[in-house]
Amino acid sequence: MPTLTDRQYSKKNIADIASKIRQEYFSTENPMDGLLNIIKSNRGILEVSFGVPKETLRIRGDESFVITIPANTSPLRDVFTIAHELGHYYLHSDQRTPESFNRDGTNQRETEANWFAAELLMPAEKFKKTAEELQNDPQKIAAKFGVSGAAARVRMSVLGLI
Ligand SMILES: [Zn+2]
Repeated sequence: MPTLTDRQYSKKNIADIASKIRQEYFSTENPMDGLLNIIKSNRGILEVSFGVPKETLRIRGDESFVITIPANTSPLRDVFTIAHELGHYYLHSDQRTPESFNRDGTNQRETEANWFAAELLMPAEKFKKTAEELQNDPQKIAAKFGVSGAAARVRMSVLGLI
């Protein structure tokens, strides 16, 4: 029998999950506040690594988890990385069984974690409205959502705005 963690998600499934989580935990314009709120509320730990491992999620098996981010990346990139790792936490783990997620290429889980992160940080409807207001200026849109210009540009492309 397939387990929860073998589940296949549609983009719509993931958007719905991310949207619910955003509503529950994001209450300011600063995405880092929301991300830290999720981590804290789920007994997670955010750790900065000066070597390896970097950009990983470790489910510890006692219903807590550790997200590791590299020491030498920009805060804006870290926002996306943390949201991505939380995607694995919500989509791909049962949140109890010890397991590690590394950023290792282009498998389906990586794609799904990126969809989750994009929806969590840049919800489609709000993003489209904001892009229109800001005349599709990627830097201004990025600043509004507290993400990197690269992340905003990818989102614009996915949503067919550029
Ligand atoms: Zn990943």
